[in-house]
Amino acid sequence: AKSAGGNRFELADPEMDERTITRHGLTTALPAALDRSEFFIEYQPLVHLADGSVSGAEALVRWSHPQHGVLGPDRFIPLAEHTGLIVPLGRWVLEEAVRQTHEWQQRHPGAGPLRINVNLSPCQLHHSGLVADTVDTLERIGLEPGTLCLEVTESALIGADDDLLKPLRRLAEMGVDIALDDFGTGYSNLANLRRLPVTELKLDRSFTQGMQQYPADPVDTKIVEGIVALAHSLDLSVTVEGVETAAQADQLRRLGCDTAQGWYYARPGPWDHLHQLALVDATG
Ligand code: C2E
Ligand code: CA
Ligand code: CA
Ligand code: CA
Repeated sequence: AKSAGGNRFELADPEMDERTITRHGLTTALPAALDRSEFFIEYQPLVHLADGSVSGAEALVRWSHPQHGVLGPDRFIPLAEHTGLIVPLGRWVLEEAVRQTHEWQQRHPGAGPLRINVNLSPCQLHHSGLVADTVDTLERIGLEPGTLCLEVTESALIGADDDLLKPLRRLAEMGVDIALDDFGTGYSNLANLRRLPVTELKLDRSFTQGMQQYPADPVDTKIVEGIVALAHSLDLSVTVEGVETAAQADQLRRLGCDTAQGWYYARPGPWDHLHQLALVDATG
């Protein structure tokens, strides 16, 4: 009786009610949204910490919803994962990001390669078509595998068996980079890293937050130092997320991190915006 009462109370909460209804509405609207091309990608530059030059960009998906306006991925990616729509949606993101990157390279052959990072949901890892879809997209569009980096969260790979790692290993063998996203939040066994076909660690934003003031948080400093030493000894590069201030960039550079991403450099934006940053860079 007690739990039933609790439920009734929850349903009576108007905000809760609205969220449930909205979630349901968004879930049922997802397939048509993909058909109607309501999704679009914003690109956020990745920057070499050493000199501030643009090395690439991360593709971040958004939904331009006819009633709710632009929705961030946190609002709909979990729903798409729940219904399985993440597989065709993920395929669309890859296709679109690869196409725009290739187009840019064609137009600016002297500007050097711009790497494109695409997020992979754990559901896509479990989907048998991942390798074939990725190979097909790269070949059909004509982008070098080494220009693509797939980001997989650390938590998706914790305790992963060989069957789950096999597709990632195949892609890595082809030259596709694999980044371990949100690194440091998943409590994975560091020794486990050697087993994973990853080429890069993306340090979670929580560590960057510890670099906000001088001197930086001593515990975060020690952890970042340790992670960087370990990563470099395994030949992995380290990217830091969520860099919002010069102090953070400065201290993370001094700790040996290789690449940074964050509002301090640029917010996610349309390709044209990235294009300008990368081009200014390439031409000095
Ligand atoms: P993520 O992969 O960790 O992406 C980084 C998030 O941090 C992005 O949020 C980005 O806009 C935000 N961010 C970047 N710089 C800063 C900063 O300086 N400060 C702060 N506070 N935040 C910053 P966003 O775009 O809302 O994406 C959220 C998450 O949604 C992503 O986290 C990723 O897990 C997921 N996601 C985005 N696009 C895709 C996609 O195409 N496929 C899949 N499966 N997941 C995606
Ligand atoms: Ca990511
Ligand atoms: Ca590469
Ligand atoms: Ca991340």
